[in-house]
Amino acid sequence: MQTIAAAPVDQAPDFDWQNPYILLTPGPLSTSPTVRAALLRDWCTWDDDYNLGIVTPIREGLVKIASATKPEDYTAVLMQGSGTFSVEAMIGTAVPADGKLLVLANGEYGNRLGRIAQTLKINTVVHDSGELAPPDLGKLEAALRNDAAITHVVCVHNETTTGMLNPLAAIARIVKGQGRIFLVDSMSAFGGIPLDVAALGIDFIVSSANKCIQGVPGFGFVIARKSELARCSGRARSVSLDVYDQWAGMEKGHGKWRFTSPTHVVRAFAQAMKELDEEGGVAARFARYTENQRRLVVGMERLGFRCVLPHALHSPIITGFYNPEAPGYDFMKFYDLLKTKGFVIYPGKVTGINSFRIGTIGHVFPEDIDRLIVAVEASRYWV
Ligand SMILES: *Cc1c(COP(=O)(O)O)cnc(C)c1O
Repeated sequence: MQTIAAAPVDQAPDFDWQNPYILLTPGPLSTSPTVRAALLRDWCTWDDDYNLGIVTPIREGLVKIASATKPEDYTAVLMQGSGTFSVEAMIGTAVPADGKLLVLANGEYGNRLGRIAQTLKINTVVHDSGELAPPDLGKLEAALRNDAAITHVVCVHNETTTGMLNPLAAIARIVKGQGRIFLVDSMSAFGGIPLDVAALGIDFIVSSANKCIQGVPGFGFVIARKSELARCSGRARSVSLDVYDQWAGMEKGHGKWRFTSPTHVVRAFAQAMKELDEEGGVAARFARYTENQRRLVVGMERLGFRCVLPHALHSPIITGFYNPEAPGYDFMKFYDLLKTKGFVIYPGKVTGINSFRIGTIGHVFPEDIDRLIVAVEASRYWV
């Protein structure tokens, strides 16, 4: 038998498998024990139990979450890989060879949209408003008026770099008012922040299994306006990341994936969707996340921490805090102390700002945030 050299922390005798720590990160997130338990069996991808019993209801359920008013206009296409794979699939499938994409960027994830488009050799223009400012709507409107070549616009819904909630409705009004196709990376917001893609006129929107729907990581999904997706045959720059082809396969096979499906992850996602429904749907989840974030900010500010963003720009998803200026402070030491108390936080990502981030999504409740604040108070070794 092979022996593994170093005993990892999860082999320690007192290790609590069920609850080693909660993840206060932007994903993967803490999941419920019942979601994790749903992983524990194998499924045949050829069988109706799986395709009709699990995949098809997930696709129908996602469309209903996306739009209460016109779900029949949309379809949900599940895609293997992490969320970025679905973003790349959406952009690569939606924008034709002679199209031009305008990217609104104000953080790491917005920049990634630009990088994906450029790598796919799509004619791309990036409007970067900097990490601390919302998109410049006047500039967007002027660009669409003055450049008829721009066919598509893409933006991030919740910019997870800072926790900034971008003004999706205002952006949508401009993009659709100018008759362009509108693509959204709603990875860290979908299922946690109410929206109606039909009312906003969104044509394509992406999220993944392990953000606000609280499944485990392993696939993403693109929700697309059927009439627009129907025009995308043959546009994709990749075989595996072809949303049109994946859609055609799922429609024809009643939920069958073209290539190996992450069956266990999909089954756990079905459980996560059920739990979202039982919680009271997106509105109730939004209320919980909002209360989580409210308690976080009140508690952290009481302990002397300062938020990176003004409160008005925050989403309930994740919050950036400045690292303390104290000479003895070291983020990794603070991080390790919190981890021993059962909480994992996240380093900052804002360029030029020395910060860290705390997520408030996942199977995390206001009482967890209260316990976190107690743990933070007890971990301020530098004070
Ligand atoms: C998490 C996230 C992604 C990337 O997801 P991966 O699963 O890491 O590929 C993309 N965009 C946003 C806004 C995110 O929050």
